[in-house]
Amino acid sequence: MKNVTVIGAGIVGICSALSLTQAGARVRLIDRDLPGQGASFGNAGVISPWSIIPQSMPGVWKNIPRWLLDPNGPVSIKLSHLPRLLPWTMKFLSNARMDRVHATITAMETLNHSNVELYRAHLAGTGHENLIQDSYYVHAFRNADNARLNALEYSLRQERGAQLERIGAKHLQELEPALTKEFKAAILIKDQGRATSPGKIGEVLADKFRALGGIIERTDVHTLQSNEGAWQIITSTGTLNADNLVLSAGAWSADLLRPLGIKIPMQAERGYHAMFENPGLTLNHSIMDVDHKCVASSMDGGLRVAGQAEFANINAPESSAKAHRMSKLARKMVPDLPDTPPTTWMGVRPSLPDSLPCIGAVPGMENLYAAFGHSHYGLMMAPKTGRLISDIVMNKPINDDISPFRVDRFN
Ligand SMILES: Cc1cc2nc3c(=O)[nH]c(=O)nc-3n(C[C@H](O)[C@H](O)[C@H](O)COP(=O)(O)OP(=O)(O)OC[C@H]3O[C@@H](n4cnc5c(N)ncnc54)[C@H](O)[C@@H]3O)c2cc1C
Repeated sequence: MKNVTVIGAGIVGICSALSLTQAGARVRLIDRDLPGQGASFGNAGVISPWSIIPQSMPGVWKNIPRWLLDPNGPVSIKLSHLPRLLPWTMKFLSNARMDRVHATITAMETLNHSNVELYRAHLAGTGHENLIQDSYYVHAFRNADNARLNALEYSLRQERGAQLERIGAKHLQELEPALTKEFKAAILIKDQGRATSPGKIGEVLADKFRALGGIIERTDVHTLQSNEGAWQIITSTGTLNADNLVLSAGAWSADLLRPLGIKIPMQAERGYHAMFENPGLTLNHSIMDVDHKCVASSMDGGLRVAGQAEFANINAPESSAKAHRMSKLARKMVPDLPDTPPTTWMGVRPSLPDSLPCIGAVPGMENLYAAFGHSHYGLMMAPKTGRLISDIVMNKPINDDISPFRVDRFN
């Protein structure tokens, strides 16, 4: 029986550990926190087979001056962080060519194509099947002229088979009566799912992993040392030995690889949410405010609005201004939210410059595997990532092209 240690019990690590266990491995999952926390806790809950449009698109460079100058915009860059961000930005912009965009879409499809079904299969029999609901992704526009099905991002989705519909203000109000009447049109992306509690999904799947014999240990990993084809994990509570190691420590993965001489262009892309408990109203779908780039969804604990891309040091404190911005945007989208202040949260997206994660063997490092870098898409890409990493570690045949996820593609 293969022994595998997975570092990081975010949703990617949990799905990896679960698939490995189901494939017959003996698996230990390590995290300094409880399972399903990290970025995996407070995200917007969108699970979409059609989230296949990369962040770096033709013309994206035109936005950079605005992002630098407007600290209150959807994307913000801390000036002190700029020197560390520049090399990443150059790589990011080099992906904004149509040939790269088409290739990235194909790779994103590999990970997202069956994400709703894969989650349903993981949750079947747990008693928590309702954590995934059928949903549209409603992209809502204040200026009706901007809601164009022939805009590049919608054309590309349709080319790959997405069912889209443009609706006007009246139809949108019927679909989502709680939304502001400022929205004059919307594009519906059909055949999606949404999570009613992303954190709870992590907890439930971690429980399932444990019930199948998996072990979860709580400790902080300091360094990794290679030892004749096996691994020593130096932690806050002692040294652990591992035959095979899967690294799924989200935005912290690059820091753990650096001492081994492996450089990954990872940015901590920080996002925020505001959550209104008992709001007294409901949204039926995931709603994106296209003007402000944030997503609202009704969840088990209340109504959540999540978004913001703040490029700053991974350890920088949460910005109260950004958290406040999310609550203001929530009230702009859903004007009848109660006056009581929401709870707020910040999480760190593990972002690589080509919008794709690293999945697979780490070159030159025997029995070390990568499963990190899922940026804006980690909740939805986690089940397929788990399946792939399990097949790779267990030496099973793989039908998908996994070359776009190579760890050394940035060298
Ligand atoms: C505001 C916001 C909205 C988002 N919305 C969506 C969405 O709607 N849909 C979607 O698919 N994605 C969304 N995302 C992205 C998604 O949340 C992430 O891609 C995903 O959570 C990454 O999962 P992960 O398991 O790789 O990382 P994480 O969830 O961050 O987990 C990493 C884990 O590693 C552990 N760890 C790290 N270093 C160490 C160490 N040294 N020792 C021990 N443990 C360690 C951490 O404690 C953590 O538990 C959103 C993100 C944000 C911030």
